[in-house]
Amino acid sequence: MPKNYHHIQKARLTMSQQLKEFHHVVSLPKKRSRVSLENPYWEKKLSDSQITLLEIHDKSDWIKAELTQGYKTSKGIMKDIVWKLPSTQDKKDTCGKFKTLGCFNLSSHPNNQAYIQHTKLSCFRSACELCWMEKWLARESRRATLRIEKYESVMKQIGNSRFTKPVHVIVSPSWDDKFMRFDLLKKKCRKLLDQAGIKGGLLIYHPFGLDKKRRVWVTRPHFHVIGFGWVHDTKKISDNDGWVIKNKGVRQSLHSTVYYLLSHAGVTDNIHSITWFGELGYRSKYAELIRVEKEEQDDTCPFCTEILVNAVFVGTDRPPPDKEFIGLVDSSSWSPTESIDESKRIYRILDERIIN
Ligand SMILES: [Zn+2]
Ligand SMILES: [Zn+2]
Repeated sequence: MPKNYHHIQKARLTMSQQLKEFHHVVSLPKKRSRVSLENPYWEKKLSDSQITLLEIHDKSDWIKAELTQGYKTSKGIMKDIVWKLPSTQDKKDTCGKFKTLGCFNLSSHPNNQAYIQHTKLSCFRSACELCWMEKWLARESRRATLRIEKYESVMKQIGNSRFTKPVHVIVSPSWDDKFMRFDLLKKKCRKLLDQAGIKGGLLIYHPFGLDKKRRVWVTRPHFHVIGFGWVHDTKKISDNDGWVIKNKGVRQSLHSTVYYLLSHAGVTDNIHSITWFGELGYRSKYAELIRVEKEEQDDTCPFCTEILVNAVFVGTDRPPPDKEFIGLVDSSSWSPTESIDESKRIYRILDERIIN
C-alpha cells in the first residue's frame, strides 16, 4: 500500500462529499409537464426551422450522401464504418402509430373534461425515416442542452466564473488527415482542442457539408464543438498540423445551435452522434451532477393523479385526430378501453418483472 494511501482516500471522500452536497444546492430542472391548469392543452406543431429542415431533406440529395471510413473499435477490432445523414433507413412497424391513454375522472377535472395523451410510438433512432426529426432530433438536442445547462449551473455553484458560457468551435482536419481512421481522427481532434484551451464539451461529427447552390451534400469531414474554455494558439496549431480551429464564439440560443448541428450529423451503427469529453464527459468528476435523467412519459393524470388507462377515439363527427396532443378535451369523443384496476394490474406485473 502506498504511503499516502490514506491521504488519497481522505481526499477522495471529501470530493465525493462535496459533490453530494452540490446535489442539494444545484436545483435540478423541474420535470417538464406539458400541461397544467393554466395551459390545459398542448398540440404538436412543426416549427419554422423544422419545416426548413424538411425542405432541405427533400430538395437535396440527402439520402445519397455516404462516406466509408476505417475504424478501430474500443475492443480493438478493425472495420469499415459507413457514414450517412440521419433518416436513411426504413421505419419499424410501430413507428408513428398512435398510442392513446386517458383519465376519465371527469368530476375531478376542470369543466368535466377528459384528460387524453394522444402520442406517437417511436423507435427514436437517428436513422429512422419517420422518427429522426420529431423524435430523435427533438429528444437528443433537448437532452444535450440540459446537460450543458446543468454544467453551467454547477460551475456557478462552485464559484467558477472563468468560462460561464459555451462557445461554438469548428475543427477542420488538414487535407492529409481528412480521411484517416475515424477513431484516430477524433483522437487528434480532442488533442488539438485541448491544446487550444477547450476543456470540455460536446463533439458532433459532420462527414458532409451542404453545397447550398447545387443542393448537393459534399464529403467534407469536420467536427463541431460546443465547449467551455478560452480558445488560443489556433494559429500555431494550423501552422504545425494544418488543422483549422475556428472559434464562432457564444451563440444566442444554445438549443437551436445543438439542434441545427445534430440535424445533419454523421449517423452510423453503434456510434453516438454526440461525444461528451473533458469535464462534460461521462467519467468527469461532475458526471453525476450533470447527468440528464431518462424522460419517461407520465402515466398518471396531472389533474387528479389517477393512473391512466388505454383509450380510443369514438367521435363520429370527424376522423380521429392525426396530430399528437396532450390535455383536456371534450369527453364525448373519447372512451376508455380498460378499467383503472386492469391498468394497475398490468403496471403491477411490469413492476414485478423489473424487480425480479
Ligand atoms: Zn422509427
Ligand atoms: Zn384525471
